[in-house]
Amino acid sequence: MFLKRLEVVGFKSFAERIGIDFVPGVTAVVGPNGSGKSNVTDAIRWVLGEQSAKSLRGAKMEDVIFAGSESRRALNFAEVTLVLDNTDEQVAIPYTEVSVTRRVYRSGESEYLLNNQQCRLKDITDLFMDSGLGKEAFSIISQGRVDEILNSRPDDRRSIFEEAAGVLKYKLRKKKAEHK
Ligand code: ATP
Ligand code: MG
Repeated sequence: MFLKRLEVVGFKSFAERIGIDFVPGVTAVVGPNGSGKSNVTDAIRWVLGEQSAKSLRGAKMEDVIFAGSESRRALNFAEVTLVLDNTDEQVAIPYTEVSVTRRVYRSGESEYLLNNQQCRLKDITDLFMDSGLGKEAFSIISQGRVDEILNSRPDDRRSIFEEAAGVLKYKLRKKKAEHK
């Protein structure tokens, strides 16, 4: 599985619709301070279901919507689409390509789409759990997170390894079953 394409419109500093095509291998994003490099990874975490405005470096979720600039009016919605190559079927869905879209309006209304079909956030989290991709997954390690992992309690650190090993899903299911 690999990240093939990211489409962003109205998200943070990206007022205009932009598309970034990734190729297998290493991609480096370079640019001056404040040019939007971190906003690219914020967009990836957001589309995968990030619910914490603070972890997206905002105060409230509405802060992810383009707030306007000297030359451009603010927008009313933000939308991010992530396209993954799934030819190895690492994501348990019978499609060679998986696309995930999240949209949020200033009114607070929001929606998620999986391969252009409306779905719940839970469908997305379930699908990506243990694939290594997800808002909390080890595939996205931001500045500061390295220290956090090193300084975390053994139990918390263990859950990172469990997710990487693909056993977290079973532990969560077991917990759910025990509570019934
Ligand atoms: P650094 O090198 O300092 O880490 P960076 O390239 O990672 O910088 P980002 O943090 O991604 O930069 O982008 C910050 C920019 O995004 C700021 O200029 C900020 O004004 C802009 N920005 C953030 N949220 C919004 C928003 N809702 N509307 C418009 N612009 C926004
Ligand atoms: Mg940055």
